[in-house]
Amino acid sequence: MATRVIPPRILRNVSYNTSTKPLNSTHTSLLPTLSPPPSPEVPPPTSAVLPPAADDLNFQDLRKLFSHVPTSTLLRSTAVLHATAVDPLVDFGTWLMRSNLMHVNGLRDIFLASIRHTFYHHFCAGEDAPTAASSIRALNHTGLRGMLVYGVEDALDNEACDRNLRGFLRTVDVSRSLPPSSVSFVIVKITAICPMSLLERMSDLLRWQHKDPSFSLPWKQDCFPIFSESSPLYHTRSRPEPLTPEEERDLELANQRFLELCQKCVNANMPLMVDAEHTSVQPAIDYFTYSSAIVHNRVENPIVFGTMQTYLKDAKERLMLAAEAADKMGISMGFKLVRGAYMSSESKLAESLGYSSPIHNTIQDTHNCFNDCSSFMLEKIAKGPGGVVLATHNVESGRLAAAKAHEVGIGRVNHKLEFAQLHGMSEALSFGLSNAGFHVSKYMPFGPVETVMPYLLRRAEENRGMLAASGFDRQLMRKELGRRLKAAVF
Ligand SMILES: Cc1cc2nc3c(=O)[nH]c(=O)nc-3n(C[C@H](O)[C@H](O)[C@H](O)COP(=O)(O)OP(=O)(O)OC[C@H]3O[C@@H](n4cnc5c(N)ncnc54)[C@H](O)[C@@H]3O)c2cc1C
Repeated sequence: MATRVIPPRILRNVSYNTSTKPLNSTHTSLLPTLSPPPSPEVPPPTSAVLPPAADDLNFQDLRKLFSHVPTSTLLRSTAVLHATAVDPLVDFGTWLMRSNLMHVNGLRDIFLASIRHTFYHHFCAGEDAPTAASSIRALNHTGLRGMLVYGVEDALDNEACDRNLRGFLRTVDVSRSLPPSSVSFVIVKITAICPMSLLERMSDLLRWQHKDPSFSLPWKQDCFPIFSESSPLYHTRSRPEPLTPEEERDLELANQRFLELCQKCVNANMPLMVDAEHTSVQPAIDYFTYSSAIVHNRVENPIVFGTMQTYLKDAKERLMLAAEAADKMGISMGFKLVRGAYMSSESKLAESLGYSSPIHNTIQDTHNCFNDCSSFMLEKIAKGPGGVVLATHNVESGRLAAAKAHEVGIGRVNHKLEFAQLHGMSEALSFGLSNAGFHVSKYMPFGPVETVMPYLLRRAEENRGMLAASGFDRQLMRKELGRRLKAAVF
């Protein structure tokens, strides 16, 4: 098969609009409080810097904010979020979940039962599809929507990939059986339907082709640009061997699996979101995403969405290149923007190979990148086709994006814009955005406790420390519990 890549003519015309108008941001407060104290470095917001719709997000009226949350849930959430913020407890919990004690019969059942009734119950939607479906129904009564995530581990062989595909297909069926629009997306992990070793090999080959455009990849189909000028290529240090006939067959099987899932989503009119993972395999994930988007996203509303991790230094350039190539080809492309969840492993890998980390040098640079990419996408979808999911717990980013959406005239309840938070995280932001009239989804993993353990470990890691993102939520929930207690007593 001949290599089919984007014609150079299109790439030449892709302009780097690095001057994207930023969100009306001073890029300041990271962990908002109810009334931010003035500080010498961080000037208090004035009407001149506050965007027009900044007041849309009201975190003052706690009764309204948490009106959908029963007191029992508030109590459990507060307890779980506090527990995940206590470092020694998180250290002990993660050690336990990774230790050999988990393999000792009897002990294992006790640990799993305690995890099930606490962290699992808080962060996950249920152990099987019917339970996840009832969680979505309950969520939908509160005005939020669900993103159904079938919890699976990375696949090592075709057998695991086939098993995982059946789970993803079943997720589409479950979503279709739920009230219309209560599910915003079905999520897929490419690492679950294509063997990891093949994704690594494909990523190496794609990187090498970026270094040397004459390097031929016979299996490669039309795709948007995966790399930018500044993309790090250190993972691939020597010219990789072409795919073996067996690898080509495995790739064909992976293509068929993804095609079957995409077609099922097209038939169900259910958008499909591809999650982003480590940079060692992300080029191949982007390749699957973009080549499928070219086939399936020909209508106004995109079906296949990719994910951009804005903690990566090259994220903004890559987003612009891919989005503009999609425009030139008449494809409606959707992106989920996240900061990124693999910070420490990315830095460790780069360091072990003698390179600097691909992650922004400062957290402020990551915040700026997320906000700039949001601004770019909001401006873009205001003028034309495409979609964006702003997946963040950062209240400042939510506030800025809400104001920007208002400024560019996207309107609130708009199918092109979705805010998203993880199930069990940032309830205040979710309800604040929803009360302001935006579409808001919760990312809801489901599956047996053992299978979603890696996900739970990431949640524990992310919430650790009293300054973690969940601090804002904990503070508001405590206040609301106090308010309810007072109302009950007096
Ligand atoms: C709906 C949803 C879907 C998601 N899907 C994915 C996915 O597909 N792939 C993926 O990788 N992640 C995904 N995530 C996780 C996400 O990437 C973040 O890990 C998480 O949401 C925290 O970022 P935040 O935007 O909420 O920001 P904040 O609450 O502000 O957290 C900022 C975090 O950024 C990190 N950080 C980034 N850059 C730096 C830096 N230079 N220095 C120091 N710290 C830094 C810190 O660890 C800090 O905790 C998803 C999150 C959500 C809500």
